[in-house]
Amino acid sequence: MIVENEKEIAKALYDDLSKPEFEAFISEISNAKSSCELALKELKHWMKPEKAKTSISTFPSSAEIVSEPLGVVLVISTWNFPFLLSVDPVIGAIAAGNAVVLKPSEISPATSSLLVNLFDKYLDKSAVRVVEGAVPETSALLEQKWDKILYTGSSRVGRIVMTAAAKHLTPVILELGGKCPAIVDSNVNLQVATRRIIAGKWQCNNGQACIGVDYVITTKDFAPKLIDALRKELEDCFGRNPMESKDISRIVSLNHFTRLERLLDEDNVSNKIVLGGQRDQNKLRMAPTILLDVPKDSQIMQDEIFGPLLPIITVENVKDSFDAINSKPKPLAAYLFTNDEKLKESFVQNVSAGGMLINDTILHVTVDTLPFGGVEESGMGSYHGKFSFDAFSHKKAVLYRSFNGDASIRYPPYTESKKKL
Ligand code: NAD
Repeated sequence: MIVENEKEIAKALYDDLSKPEFEAFISEISNAKSSCELALKELKHWMKPEKAKTSISTFPSSAEIVSEPLGVVLVISTWNFPFLLSVDPVIGAIAAGNAVVLKPSEISPATSSLLVNLFDKYLDKSAVRVVEGAVPETSALLEQKWDKILYTGSSRVGRIVMTAAAKHLTPVILELGGKCPAIVDSNVNLQVATRRIIAGKWQCNNGQACIGVDYVITTKDFAPKLIDALRKELEDCFGRNPMESKDISRIVSLNHFTRLERLLDEDNVSNKIVLGGQRDQNKLRMAPTILLDVPKDSQIMQDEIFGPLLPIITVENVKDSFDAINSKPKPLAAYLFTNDEKLKESFVQNVSAGGMLINDTILHVTVDTLPFGGVEESGMGSYHGKFSFDAFSHKKAVLYRSFNGDASIRYPPYTESKKKL
């Protein structure tokens, strides 16, 4: 399905987000394809019952953990990677033997309707269905009893989903968001670090990504160098007038555009712009924009930005950034750029996040031997690779015994001689 329809998928992503074709390919199409390939290659191995040790109290016996399908799964997807984030959970759910209903996001209508057509054409309708719609349709779906729900989207709606699921005791995986920080130490390869921040911000759906860099923390002394480097590399990537660049996505909707404008236009925020700031509401285009030291209590430092605005916060000492991160809800991802081994170790030990990546951005999501998911406010549960298969399976505990070695000691009457043993 994916191989035969690459062009159609890229076109739908362009219609929904002006997503550049190359970006559509590397961030959505190829990841969905490799997820399928991995499941096809590994499924027999994933399905195999897993031997478990037994204890002396059950001797003689053997034990195994058997994966069984949960039943019917509901996947509610979002608009920023509307193809990958719809198809990837479905792959895991089917691999584990479930039937699936997928509800794509109404905010990416071209991809949503393409998914209906493709699933209709390529998949078994008795096992996999797409239901299109917005809040009323999703609410109606949530009234049904499901065997598992995987929801990708905001924490606000995550709470609605979990409340609805609780009525039926349905387990949930919530793939939510948050403010993903990137700490930049001064002893880095500045050009490489800068390019990778660009890759994790503007190259990623123009900042509309759950694991995109939300804000940067660096030292007061290093900030000017970092800003100069970002200016240069951004110009190399998107030209002198990024508003005209074909290599950057637009903002998905007028709602999201005005939400970003409100963040930018707040008192004491708009005067902190050091780069960019251009916007065109008619075309829903917004340039990469960097702000230096916006107030900590400003809305842009409270809300997940989910767009091309990048605040840089300065601290005296790079280690102070850990407190700044830990004072906020736990993010989906946290990044650190440094050559200092002690700092890396301390970051991993002292900062909590769904996942973390040292000296790069975003790429941890492509490593299918790592679970992908959030913690606390950024979500619960995880998937990808074998974790997807496990996420949609019940792990059934099975103990095998024979009729041999039956010890009468376990049965009443509890005589004094038995008690002594
Ligand atoms: P959203 O929560 O508004 O919408 C996502 C889905 O929820 C859509 O399918 C929508 O129809 C449905 N929905 C919206 N309102 C609803 C309601 N009242 N009742 C029931 N269903 C409802 O989120 P969004 O704006 O589409 O996505 C942005 C958020 O998603 C960000 O916070 C981002 O970080 C997060 N996100 C997380 C991941 C991840 O993998 N963890 C990936 C992408 C986006």
